[in-house]
Amino acid sequence: MSIWVLRGLRDGIVTTRWPRRPDGYADSWRGPVTIASDDVPGNGAAASSAWLPDGAAADDARLEQLCPTGAIEVTDQVRVDQGRCILCGRCVAARPDLFAWSAGATGPAAAAAVRQALVVPEEPGTDAALAAARSALAARTAALRRSVHVRHVDAGSDGSEEWEIQALLGPVYDIHRLGVFFTASPRHADVLMVTGAGTVGMTGPLRTTYKGMPDPKVVIAVGTDAVSGGLLSDRLSGVGSEVPVDVWVPGSPPSPFSIMQALLIATGKLAPGARR
Ligand code: SF4
Repeated sequence: MSIWVLRGLRDGIVTTRWPRRPDGYADSWRGPVTIASDDVPGNGAAASSAWLPDGAAADDARLEQLCPTGAIEVTDQVRVDQGRCILCGRCVAARPDLFAWSAGATGPAAAAAVRQALVVPEEPGTDAALAAARSALAARTAALRRSVHVRHVDAGSDGSEEWEIQALLGPVYDIHRLGVFFTASPRHADVLMVTGAGTVGMTGPLRTTYKGMPDPKVVIAVGTDAVSGGLLSDRLSGVGSEVPVDVWVPGSPPSPFSIMQALLIATGKLAPGARR
């Protein structure tokens, strides 16, 4: 008897039941940084500590300078743009009273249907923008059936996102069970999944791929690099300036659960309100 058969009998079924059932592994993933709050497991700082004390202007620049990608902004409130966070941990190490890791790959650090929804605490108007984006997306993707095909384009990735996308095809995540299949041809694709910061050499092929896909089509930006340019954000702005992104997935890299969630949101299979 083959060793693989014996291993299979020993391990049993390893495929996650998510999203039909909760998955503890998804909850154990570390998401991008958020503002410290009692709502975040393992963080006892009060949410009100995110508000700046009077006359704290001298400290503002130091807070913003903590972040190599400009994800931290100090105005009337300290805000973190999770779409810029590369999970370096500098802010959490320096100011654990202000910053904490978001918990759970499919929780508050997961995919969003509008770019501004990646900013915490929420900016005014985010809920209205999310509702409008969701209804527009639902109307556009109503024609998509039980299975969809995905074309992946690497627009200058460091390769980390590709490892997580590749994991979707393994026995643990088994994305095929959700009716998602990858294709090499844009002509057969319903979803364009883009990784990387949007390097100059890839803008042409990326646009050509998008134009070659039949309507309706959905675009997912996977990872902080694709969302904002990541560490290259002073020179590149991500892929949103090249193709119209419908779903944004933060993380460097994002977890396979986050990518699955984005695919389900993009194709109307996950209920609205998945983020937050
Ligand atoms: S990139 Fe680093 S410093 Fe900036 S918010 Fe993320 S963890 Fe904090």
